[in-house]
Amino acid sequence: MITTRYQHPTVELCRTCQGDGEVIKYPNWDVLHQHGETEMCETCEGTGRVIVSKKIEVTVVPFKIK
Ligand SMILES: [Zn+2]
Repeated sequence: MITTRYQHPTVELCRTCQGDGEVIKYPNWDVLHQHGETEMCETCEGTGRVIVSKKIEVTVVPFKIK
């Protein structure tokens, strides 16, 4: 039997930008990371926070010992 559980959405720190709201992107040729450009974080759109909704699928089977 499979049941689906939903958890209430929670506000969490954006893990893409660590809450800064912006990320530093480096060109592919910039191996030393000296020419980064600051861009708005696409995950949280600059807010530094995201709303996380969780859907958990629970599988239940009989415990049978052979
Ligand atoms: Zn972010």
